[in-house]
Amino acid sequence: MITCYVKNINSLNQKTYNNFIKYFPFHELSCSCGNFNCLTRHAYYTRYIKTVNGNTPISILRVKCNVCNATHAILISNIVPYSQILLDDHVRIIYAYENKSSFEDILNDAYIDESNIKYIIRQYISHFKQKILEHNLLFDQSLVLNCFKYFKCNFMQIKTAFKNLFIHPHNLPYLLNYSGVD
Ligand SMILES: [Zn+2]
Repeated sequence: MITCYVKNINSLNQKTYNNFIKYFPFHELSCSCGNFNCLTRHAYYTRYIKTVNGNTPISILRVKCNVCNATHAILISNIVPYSQILLDDHVRIIYAYENKSSFEDILNDAYIDESNIKYIIRQYISHFKQKILEHNLLFDQSLVLNCFKYFKCNFMQIKTAFKNLFIHPHNLPYLLNYSGVD
């Protein structure tokens, strides 16, 4: 998969994802095989994410390499791979846990329940807490960038795909200013 660092998508839905893909500079990508300018649109698959509108289907684009035939899903950084819960909600839950504050606000968002919270905290303790402490990472805008820098995956990404690419904003500076349009 290819995760693109995107700031300022406050509400992820099909429209904001499509808008992102519409302007995606495929020609600037290189494949995990090392070739450049070889990825083209291939197919879509559906994944579900939890939003204020409930379990929301999003069609995610796969690109295919015309040299090695590998396919890569194009994710944006507020999607945590293999999770239906968005990155922002992971961060809210873990921040509340670390600061011993209430989960009430989070539970008021009907799409997150207590079992989601317990699961995320368990995964955090098992896979990330120690690493976050070791590197003194902060729960702010730098978190995703630092997770890719130190751990080669998104924050709270538990399974790490063998080919886990990351598009760094320094390579694609205009993505930094991308803003989804609702
Ligand atoms: Zn390739």
